Amino acid sequence: MNREVSERVHILFFPFMAHGHMIPILDMAKLFASRGAKSTLLTTPISAKILEKPIEAFKAQNPDLEIGIKIFEFPCVELGLPEGCENGDFINSYQKSDSGDLFFKFIFSTKYMKHQLESFVETTKPSALVADMFFPWATESAEKFGVPRLVFHGTSFFALCCSYNMRIHKPHKKVATRSTPFEIPCLPGNIVITADQANVADEATPMGKYMKEVRESETNSFGVLVNSFYELEPAYADFYRSFVAKRAWHIGPLSLSNREFVEKAGRGKKANIDEQDCLKWLDSKTLGSVVYLSFGSGTNLTNEQLLEIAYGLEGSGQNFIWVVRTNGNQGEDEEWLPERFEERTTKKGLIIRGWAPQVVILDHKAIGGFVTHCGWNSAVEGIAAGLPMVTWPMGAEQFYNEKLLTKVLKIGVSVGATEKVKKGKLISREQVEKAVREVIVGEEAEERRLWAKKLGEMAKAAVEEGGSSYNDVKKFMDEINGSK
Ligand code: UDP
Repeated sequence: MNREVSERVHILFFPFMAHGHMIPILDMAKLFASRGAKSTLLTTPISAKILEKPIEAFKAQNPDLEIGIKIFEFPCVELGLPEGCENGDFINSYQKSDSGDLFFKFIFSTKYMKHQLESFVETTKPSALVADMFFPWATESAEKFGVPRLVFHGTSFFALCCSYNMRIHKPHKKVATRSTPFEIPCLPGNIVITADQANVADEATPMGKYMKEVRESETNSFGVLVNSFYELEPAYADFYRSFVAKRAWHIGPLSLSNREFVEKAGRGKKANIDEQDCLKWLDSKTLGSVVYLSFGSGTNLTNEQLLEIAYGLEGSGQNFIWVVRTNGNQGEDEEWLPERFEERTTKKGLIIRGWAPQVVILDHKAIGGFVTHCGWNSAVEGIAAGLPMVTWPMGAEQFYNEKLLTKVLKIGVSVGATEKVKKGKLISREQVEKAVREVIVGEEAEERRLWAKKLGEMAKAAVEEGGSSYNDVKKFMDEINGSK
C-alpha cells in the first residue's frame, strides 16, 4: 500500500446521518482517540450540530486526545430533497406516507459527498477510513489514494451471518407462504424464521440494487468493524470470519466507551427529561422492579398500538419508564393514552415524550427489564447493562437480533411479533402484559436475570485492558499502521 505512515494513526469516521448510526460511530471515534489515534468525524452541517456538543465535552475531559469534525456540504434542495433533509431524524418526522421513498432518495443522494470525501482523503492521507455500510462508494474513494476502507454495519455478527445465509441459500423462496417457518440453512443454532420477518432486499428494486453494491463494497474493503464482543456470539463471529468477510474486528460494546455521566447522558438528542429527576424517580424504586420501554430513534407506532401498550403496562402491574417518540406521526395529540392513565399510574410509571437518556436509565439498579425493538445499539446496550429483555422487533434486521436474544443467548422473552410493524398488525395489550410480567416476575425471570447479569459482566470485561474487544482494537490499529 503506497501510503505515508504518519506517527499517529489518523482515522476518518463517516457515519450515515441517522442517530442509530451516528451514536455508535461517535463512540467508536472516542474509543480510538482514547487509544492514541487521531479521530476525525465526517458529516453534514445539521448532523455536525448534533455531534459537536458531545465532542466538546469529550475534549474538555481529555485535553490530550485528538478528535474533530470535518463538515461536508449537502445541498438538499439541489439534490431534490426537502430543505433540512440531511438527517434520518428529519425523514422520521416527515409525513409517514412519504417517508419510505424519501428515505431511499436520501440514501441515494449521499453519493453527492463522494467528491468532497476524495479531496479530503487526498489532502489528509489518513491511516484508514471507517465508512458506514450505506456508503458503498467510499471503498473506491479510499482505494484511489491507497487508504484502507473499513465498513461499519452497526449490527451483530449473528444478524450479518443470517443475512449472508439468506442471500446465498434463499430459503424464503422455497416455502409455501410468507408466514411459513423455515430454518436458516448452514447457520449454527437451528434458527427458525419466516419470510415476513427476514430482511432480504429484492434485487430487482433500486434499494435491492443498492444493497448489492453494499455487499460488493464489503468484499472489496479492508475489513469490517463490529459493535460486539467475542464471548457474546463466538460461533457467529467465527462463521462470519470464515465465510463472509476477509477481516473483522470486534470492538464493542461501544456504549461502554462512555465512562462519565455527561457522556452517557449526552448521546444523541437532548433528553426530554432532566436526567437528575429521572434518576431520582428510579432511586425511589426497588432493585430490578422497573421495566424500560423504548423502540429506538425511528419507529412510528400508531395511536392504536400505543393504546395497547398503555393498557398492557397498566395490566402488568409493574413499574415502568415508557419512551414515546413525539413527532408528526404519533404521540402529539395524546389520543394514545387511555383516559386518566397517568393519574392512575402516577406512582408506578413515567412517560418520557421524545428522547430519553437511555444508557443512563439502563445502568440504574432499579431497571429489571428492557422492552426493545431489537435495534442492535439498544440490544447491545441492554446486554452491557446486564438486562433481560422483552423483544419486539419492528423491521430491518431486528427479527434476527430477536432470535439471538431469545434462542441463542436466552435472555429475551418475545412479545410475539410475527411481521414488520409497517404491515399494521397490532400486538395486543394481553401480549404486552404477559411479556412484561414474564421478564420481571417468577423463577424463570430470576434465572434469566442472573444469566443476563453474567453477560453484562462479560461485556465489561471485554472492553477492559486485556479483554477480547480491547485486544482487537489494538490488533486493528497495528494492522492499519502497518506494524503488524
Ligand atoms: N436512543 C436514546 N434515547 C432515545 C432513543 C434512542 O438514547 O430516546 C439511542 C439508543 O441508546 C441507541 C440509539 O439511540 O444508541 C438507537 O439505535 P438502535 O440501533 O437501537 O435503533 P434505531 O434507532 O437505529 O432503530
